[in-house]
Amino acid sequence: MFDRARRRMVAEQLEGRGIRDPRLLHAMGRVPRHEFLEEALRHRAYEEFALPIGYGQTISHPYTVALMTEALELQGHERVLEVGTGSGYQTAVLAALCANVFTIERLAALAMRARKVLDSQAIYNVALQIGDGTIGWKAEAPFDAILVAAGGPDLPRPLLSQLRRGGRLVVPVGDGDSQSLLRLRLEDSGIREEVIADCRFVKLLGRFGFAR
Ligand code: SAH
Repeated sequence: MFDRARRRMVAEQLEGRGIRDPRLLHAMGRVPRHEFLEEALRHRAYEEFALPIGYGQTISHPYTVALMTEALELQGHERVLEVGTGSGYQTAVLAALCANVFTIERLAALAMRARKVLDSQAIYNVALQIGDGTIGWKAEAPFDAILVAAGGPDLPRPLLSQLRRGGRLVVPVGDGDSQSLLRLRLEDSGIREEVIADCRFVKLLGRFGFAR
């Protein structure tokens, strides 16, 4: 029943705003975003909004999910670390585009809800941990790509050390009100950093994030 709305979201909000990766467009045309929202908000799932998912957190709006994912340049074989599972929607999009997703969420209630929805969608290539994602997931490192879905004061250092050479890390950085979405590439010659967009994400809390 949401198929038409989802097709329109892909055409207008994603293709219409410059998202090109065909695998990504295909994935976002299939992942049922409404399933990651509580019942009362489902009818707004495919609109151009970030929506509340409880506990003061939000699901990023579709274009933001697409922009961050496209910046990771996934081919299909990658192991990807995600910090900030939230609803699990971004996780599901990643899971469709790479081999394995390792996702960390600090709020147990959100993590457990995301796990349930991912299972109900038969998405089985996701390992989920409850904890502080700013320290990364050392046992599973290195990662080909890392996506941080919440904004911290600066780049959480441990994440960079868990990135494979040639890997990409996408992360919002800045003070609470104004942030830049950065892409870092770990190259032989060093770290290459680009600003992808201005953005405003919920706060990244934790040891290498904001204290509160
Ligand atoms: N992309 C998500 C939205 C994430 S909102 C989606 O599609 O729904 C950002 C999430 O990051 C929130 O759930 C918040 O609890 C979580 N978060 C904040 N700091 C964190 C940290 N240090 N480690 C793990 N998760 C964190």
